Amino acid sequence: MRDLFSFLPEERVLVDREDLLLYSYDATPAKRYPLAVVRPKSKGEVVEIVKAASRHGLSLVARGAGTSLSGAPVPCEGCVVVDFTLMDRIIEVDEANAFVAVEPGVVYEELNRALAKRGLFFPPDPGSGSVCTLGGMVAMNSSGIRAVKYGTTRDYVASLEVVLASGEVLRLGGRYKKSASGYDLKSLFVGSEGTLGLFTEIGLHLVPKPGRRAAMTASFDSFEKAARAIASAVAARADVAVLEFMDSSVVKAVEGFSGMRLGSAEALVLAEVEGSGGEVEGEIRRLAEIFRGAGAEVELAFEEAEIAELWRARKAALPALARVAETLLLEDITVPVSALPQMMRRIGRLAEKHGVRIATFGHAGDGNLHPTFLISSEEELARARAAIEELFRECLTLGGTLSGEHGIGVEKRPYIELEHGAAVQVMREIKRALDPEGIFNPGKIF
Ligand SMILES: Cc1cc2nc3c(=O)[nH]c(=O)nc-3n(C[C@H](O)[C@H](O)[C@H](O)COP(=O)(O)OP(=O)(O)OC[C@H]3O[C@@H](n4cnc5c(N)ncnc54)[C@H](O)[C@@H]3O)c2cc1C
Repeated sequence: MRDLFSFLPEERVLVDREDLLLYSYDATPAKRYPLAVVRPKSKGEVVEIVKAASRHGLSLVARGAGTSLSGAPVPCEGCVVVDFTLMDRIIEVDEANAFVAVEPGVVYEELNRALAKRGLFFPPDPGSGSVCTLGGMVAMNSSGIRAVKYGTTRDYVASLEVVLASGEVLRLGGRYKKSASGYDLKSLFVGSEGTLGLFTEIGLHLVPKPGRRAAMTASFDSFEKAARAIASAVAARADVAVLEFMDSSVVKAVEGFSGMRLGSAEALVLAEVEGSGGEVEGEIRRLAEIFRGAGAEVELAFEEAEIAELWRARKAALPALARVAETLLLEDITVPVSALPQMMRRIGRLAEKHGVRIATFGHAGDGNLHPTFLISSEEELARARAAIEELFRECLTLGGTLSGEHGIGVEKRPYIELEHGAAVQVMREIKRALDPEGIFNPGKIF
């Protein structure tokens, strides 16, 4: 295998089983060893890797930090993994245009630390932001707790440099704010899960970093009340930067994991308002009134350290749940916010009907819920699989989508036609047009 990639130094072509183990899985139970791992440091090397793979009939699976929750970077049969973590330069910060150009291996939080010095930031904020890469985020159209105010990665991708299966390099988009010129191919690559091309450079629009923030926790004695309160806050045009939900089992797991006391509520809502001045305090107090009116006990936080601690606790939800069951199946359904109370009720009914344990948390302000199935036996796994199919059908009936942020990968592949119907065939044709030999990440999405 080293001979095929002899243009790379030996230490950047991994073939030993011990090394390959690290590339054999993501954050799902899926696992498979690749034939080899190559670690490019430049666009030129990526082009050579693609040409070598094409010549020898090998498929390629791009990989950032491997934190995907859908199986997207898990190696397919007989593939070579392209590890982008050595392409980790911030190429240029263009303050005049609030734009940054990066290589795909740059880590989300490292980018924001560098941007903070210039009063700028890139907001999507996934829970895995301390480790996940920009290449992975663009490929998955990732987002997180701030999507309710700022949107998702797609909203910030200004330009992309992409190596196609032919070895040709496309440069798409630019640092301008708008364009009405031709098909929007750049957006097609966002969320393509490594199936259409390999990113070698990413340009992002940035926003000014807000100067002030305030946070709120609201405890409810039922999760339906919490869901209704969230829907009312959104309908009242609350200007929130974060609006998160946790049910009691998630709260307990997070308390055990983080040591933080969050209260003994059946449901907890966490919110943040941010801005540049006095409007922050006014808006958080207005939000607090909406939640008190809906039956919550509310606490406000204005100190930076206290707020940061709250978000650290919230982001610990998934690792915390991972300690209470052997396996987690984390879903990612998203419904219109007004349908949240119904969706929550249906999740409760599904848990009862199938005899499964479901802990739910999520970015409720944008309707994105993570019902997490806690599995400790084969029987529980089989029951959860049946409940998940029903969960997807219920979510689609309410006008929702299978994934708000984690993508399709292999986990949701069996269900994609439920949501997209005939459009799946159009997606397959696009894949064939761009990657006729099926080199890039075969078996993912479809
Ligand atoms: C604890 C935890 C919390 C999480 N929280 C969130 C969250 O809040 N929001 C969210 O959206 N996700 C979340 N995730 C999922 C995951 O972190 C995101 O999908 C993330 O963007 C993946 O980045 P990565 O660098 O790990 O990419 P990987 O997992 O390595 O890869 C993901 C996909 O990107 C492709 N890819 C990677 N690099 C390139 C490239 N250069 N060119 C083309 N394709 C490429 C891969 O082939 C694969 O299909 C979480 C995961 C964990 C473990």
